Amino acid sequence: MDKKAIKILLKTIKTSQAENLRSWYEWDTYKKHITDEDFNYAKKHFVMYDRVKLDHNEICKRIKIAVEKIKKQEVVDAFLYSLSTRQLEYRSFLSSYCIGKSLTEHSFTASPKPNETICEICGLHSYEFEELIEFNTLNYFKYKHGSCTDNLISVLFDLEQFPKYSIKKPNNNDFEILNGLKKTIEDSENNDRVSQLKKNISKTIKSNDEERLGILEILGIIGVLHDEKHFGYFEKYVTYSEREHRPVRNDDVGYPSRWWKGEFGIDNEKWNYWFVKK
Ligand SMILES: [Zn+2]
Repeated sequence: MDKKAIKILLKTIKTSQAENLRSWYEWDTYKKHITDEDFNYAKKHFVMYDRVKLDHNEICKRIKIAVEKIKKQEVVDAFLYSLSTRQLEYRSFLSSYCIGKSLTEHSFTASPKPNETICEICGLHSYEFEELIEFNTLNYFKYKHGSCTDNLISVLFDLEQFPKYSIKKPNNNDFEILNGLKKTIEDSENNDRVSQLKKNISKTIKSNDEERLGILEILGIIGVLHDEKHFGYFEKYVTYSEREHRPVRNDDVGYPSRWWKGEFGIDNEKWNYWFVKK
């Protein structure tokens, strides 16, 4: 991706964050911090976008179209490539691919009252697509933290962005980091949770706290980290109501990694599916 365009995106959102505590992520707010010329430049290079009108069913449909054009090995390679290069934007394609593959195209299905504005299958809220959808803050977080989410708007964004990136291949350093991550997970104490594991992997991979959380959440989504009841999206799509929270306050870890404990170790079948070439 074009460096100047990325710089424009990061600078715009960062300035907006610094100057507008409450509404920095809103289109009308951050647009005040970018010139038309810069915005057009970033758009031309697929780093920033105009807002779009998309409804729930179109989001699902476009995810299925986009994911079928992507090869598994390409997103695995992109994830691995991100480990040593710390090019964080390459990370979440893997989890988005896994979610996109498992998703069944469906129509908006209201949750039981009083949550009827939430789709009970995928968890999209109707307010998320009632107004125009903006992708620029999502993209900002891709570059900044390499974080992943199970929100279908960010899954769609990832899957439609992926073909715009150049294909990357991992090198020996990436595999060394990958193997280090595996060993650290396997060496965990039985009661360790992601909060401890995050600290433990800091010796293996050059990263900050947010980045480490992002990696461990991706490993959860693709089926590597789970407990005995809460699984990732490898075998089947996890519906909104199945993405249970732990009965604790302020658990900021995504599903299903939030349920993982050291005693569950690594799911080797899934690990091998993604990371061991046959
Ligand atoms: Zn849905």
